[in-house]
Amino acid sequence: MSRTPYLADRLQGFGTTVFAEMSALAVATGSINLGQGFPDYPGPPEVLEVARQAIGTAADQYPPGPGIPELRAAIAEHQVRFSGLTYDPDTEVLVTAGATEALAAAMLALVEPGDEVVLLEPIYDSYSAAVAMAGGVVRPVPLTPPGPEGGRWTFDPADVRAAITPRTRLLLLNTPHNPTGTVLSAEELAFLAGVAVEHDLLVLTDEVYEHLVFDGARHVSPATLPGMRERTLVVSSAGKTFNVTGWKVGWICGPAPLVSAVRTAKQFLTYVNAGPFQPAVAAGLRLPDAYVAGVARDLQYRRDVLVQGLRDAGLPVVGPEATYFATVDVRPVQPDGDGLAFCRALPARAGVVAVPSGVFYTPEHAHLGRHLVRFAFCKGDDVLGEAVRRLAAMDGEPA
Ligand SMILES: *Cc1c(COP(=O)(O)O)cnc(C)c1O
Repeated sequence: MSRTPYLADRLQGFGTTVFAEMSALAVATGSINLGQGFPDYPGPPEVLEVARQAIGTAADQYPPGPGIPELRAAIAEHQVRFSGLTYDPDTEVLVTAGATEALAAAMLALVEPGDEVVLLEPIYDSYSAAVAMAGGVVRPVPLTPPGPEGGRWTFDPADVRAAITPRTRLLLLNTPHNPTGTVLSAEELAFLAGVAVEHDLLVLTDEVYEHLVFDGARHVSPATLPGMRERTLVVSSAGKTFNVTGWKVGWICGPAPLVSAVRTAKQFLTYVNAGPFQPAVAAGLRLPDAYVAGVARDLQYRRDVLVQGLRDAGLPVVGPEATYFATVDVRPVQPDGDGLAFCRALPARAGVVAVPSGVFYTPEHAHLGRHLVRFAFCKGDDVLGEAVRRLAAMDGEPA
């Protein structure tokens, strides 16, 4: 790989993302962008209104370092309501600039240079960079895709055991999982919790899709398992639940000494953020269960539309159990199995943009994701309907 000028060694390889290339391609070709995962429909009006009312008030100035008390209280209430876990809003809850900052601050606070972080692969793109910024080392455990007859993405327990070394500091779990849309099962969680306890690992969980779960699948926070609360930091965010990905309001909950360590790093990254959005997110977290169920139901419908459209276009896909994303194997329409080439040609073949899942793999495992491509379905009816029509008319010839 070529070196990026000026960039420090620890960030070499993180220079340019394929997301930027694909989004630029969408604009240049007038294609429908199903690459990046953000909704094109608004959040709940009552939540948006709280933010509007807050602008022009004292909420425009620096909020308290850990977040406004009202939001920390709402986060703690939300945790009790949905996972049964109790956190002290004053010492065990920290508001961050999105889940992204919570994850990066946790890495910087907890990982020594040379420490290893075990995580499931494909890997959400900010994780490897955050580990690298802390001087840590990523130890990926591959998830195996479902077969043509169905099934789910899962890992081999032996691969998890093999990834643990005396330098392992942290187990980073993302459930529901981006990009695969899988939700860790009770058996998988029990195994992973057992490994964490046995090796006395810290655990960081990214649960930003906690509410975007389909077909009666159930999200269980890993922190609820025996022996886990005391070693686990739980990360989530308002962006995905309330269709406000640009607000960048996230949070991290855990035992006071761990949260205090993360706060030390966080205070020198952003110190604080999103003053007028903090009371709005507090209002969102207090919406009734019916709101949450409605968001999932609505997104499940969008998933079904896209999955059917992909199947009709010759791209067989096992419907994801959660998240914004469906992952397809492109080999039926791209015989060389090159997902990146498929994505580069898709604007010309169909007027649609997706992202090659190869970007979610470490270089040593790139072959595992080469033939996979991720499509986002968090789009309005018109856009999704048009995307499905275009995919159905896809030019049969790979470019
Ligand atoms: C979107 C996303 C994030 C980032 O959340 P922000 O609150 O926007 O920082 C983190 N993790 C995963 C898995 C995501 O998909």
